[in-house]
Amino acid sequence: EELRQLVASRLRAIPDFPEPGVVFKDFTPLLRDPAASRAVVADVVRRRAGAVDVVVGIEARGFILGSVMAHALGVGFVPVRKAGKLPGETHRVSYSLEYGEAVIEMHQDALQPGDRVLVVDDVLATGGTAAACCQLVEACGATVAGVEVVLELAFLHGRDHLPGYDVVSLLVDE
Ligand code: 5GP
Repeated sequence: EELRQLVASRLRAIPDFPEPGVVFKDFTPLLRDPAASRAVVADVVRRRAGAVDVVVGIEARGFILGSVMAHALGVGFVPVRKAGKLPGETHRVSYSLEYGEAVIEMHQDALQPGDRVLVVDDVLATGGTAAACCQLVEACGATVAGVEVVLELAFLHGRDHLPGYDVVSLLVDE
């Protein structure tokens, strides 16, 4: 509960970003606070240590959170990027966002069959991004061990896109 209060105090709501009507939860104050960001990582490590072989982080804030989580867990990191950014052969998935359409990609050789993968992002909104990321993991024959987000916008019902996955959110906005 102490952790939740600390993290909640380090997120700020920015109205009408990136479009009118969307209230964007800004994570930069959390990243700026070493105690708060360390506590977020430690919480994930406590839950996942020994149970994952690789962390997959979603561009762009999932890179920041996911890479420090991978380091703390002692496992490797794999980036999932927006279309056209990765240089090697990729798997691709397209999906609809809270605001717009998107295509994301992962290198085909980034994961091995049997790898237990932790998917990391900052926010679970409609769930389209995380679900597409899980599809990419499975396209490689790897297994999604879990999905970790700092904030779940529960009113967008993102979990409905992630049936059967172990989805953990530190904070939930109802
Ligand atoms: P979804 O696909 O679940 O609708 O959207 C999740 C993706 O959009 C995540 O990659 C997340 O970073 C981004 N996103 C959506 N809404 C917000 C928000 O309010 N704050 C932040 N920081 N990211 C958001």
